[in-house]
Amino acid sequence: MKRPSIPAPPHAGGCLCGAVRYRLDARPLAVNACHCHDCKKLSGATNLLMILAMRDAFRHQGAVERYRKRADSGREVDIVRCATCGVRMWHEPLTGAHFVFIAAGTLDDSSWAVPTSHIWVEKASPGVGFEGDAVKVVGQPGDRQLLIDAFDRLYPSQP
Ligand SMILES: [Zn+2]
Ligand SMILES: [Zn+2]
Repeated sequence: MKRPSIPAPPHAGGCLCGAVRYRLDARPLAVNACHCHDCKKLSGATNLLMILAMRDAFRHQGAVERYRKRADSGREVDIVRCATCGVRMWHEPLTGAHFVFIAAGTLDDSSWAVPTSHIWVEKASPGVGFEGDAVKVVGQPGDRQLLIDAFDRLYPSQP
């Protein structure tokens, strides 16, 4: 598989109804697919593809609602949705306040968002395919740096 290159920022996106728009003015840090039970429930899909990015480069406008979820690991995360149409757009992890996890499908252009890592692979639904060059993690990595390193290896930073 040939990976599409990562386009230059900004990366814009929003919800289904258009009431909320967001913009990331930085290069993504990782493109991670999570196959855990919670992500299946929350997305309504077999897995959730998230863009890991620096929160200080992320802005949004429009009314949102937050739902605080506590994972089995004890980690808490605020799940941010459009107050009107309910589309989940991003997560704000309380244990990593400088990060934001953007749901890749809410980007206006998600064509470049190919996973560089997969987590909770032992819970993946049958029929889910894995890229040969992506990192596969059983359970959740103890350190998010592992996901960032996986991205950097596949997409070396341009000067
Ligand atoms: Zn909306
Ligand atoms: Zn998950």
